[in-house]
Amino acid sequence: MRLKREKHLTGNPLLNSQALHGGLISEDRRRLVEELRARGIQDERVLEAMALVPRERFLDRPFATRAYEDSALPIGEGQTISQPYTVAYQTQSLELKAGEKILEIGTGSGYQTAILAKMGMRVFTIERHVALLEAARKRLESLGFHRVISRAGDGTRGWPEYAPFDAILVTAGAPDVPESLAKQLSAEGGRMVIPVGGQRSQKMYLVKKKGEELSAKELADFAFVPLIGKEGWSV
Ligand code: SAM
Repeated sequence: MRLKREKHLTGNPLLNSQALHGGLISEDRRRLVEELRARGIQDERVLEAMALVPRERFLDRPFATRAYEDSALPIGEGQTISQPYTVAYQTQSLELKAGEKILEIGTGSGYQTAILAKMGMRVFTIERHVALLEAARKRLESLGFHRVISRAGDGTRGWPEYAPFDAILVTAGAPDVPESLAKQLSAEGGRMVIPVGGQRSQKMYLVKKKGEELSAKELADFAFVPLIGKEGWSV
């Protein structure tokens, strides 16, 4: 069977520029992108992806009408879709290169997954709530993101069958950096962006791997739902 290939940003600069400047983007989304830019998001590939992915499609009524507020919103199972600024911040912090292999922990609504896929990344994503994963898969399929690989389960253990990853993005707050995830980072410049701290607030870290050496840079403060699992918080 021939799989349809989704268009991604790096491959089609004309489409990107037309989409951004030629009036194809909704006013609300354009305004949100300008707000993100004003708050310090400078990676144009991140901004373009956020201009192109319809966030309202990742929300159920009645929240879809609030898709372009810069806020986290409920998605069921006591979980949230991250605030657009947080999505942009985490994505930008990963210092991604076109075509890299990324593991996302915490698929949630699938919105962050879609942003990474739109940027041309090869995305693997894990969600512990089966119902959320199934809803996210449907949304991603319906928007043409056919190449995302996903599974339900405990993401703190990573996905050894597909390791190593060029980058790992954790979208829930961890008590510490899970050892399994650190092991599954590429030894040649692998990066992980992960919020670490208490159950209510965390510090974002950029962890880098060179050979067997890990270094961690402290970024800004955030508040995420907890990362629950064998190498995270217990239920
Ligand atoms: N990236 C998501 C989006 O764009 O909608 C936001 C995700 S939400 C802030 C965090 C998600 O992490 C929740 O859906 C939660 O169920 C999930 N989660 C928490 N612990 C997990 C684990 N050990 N493995 C996989 N997913 C986990």
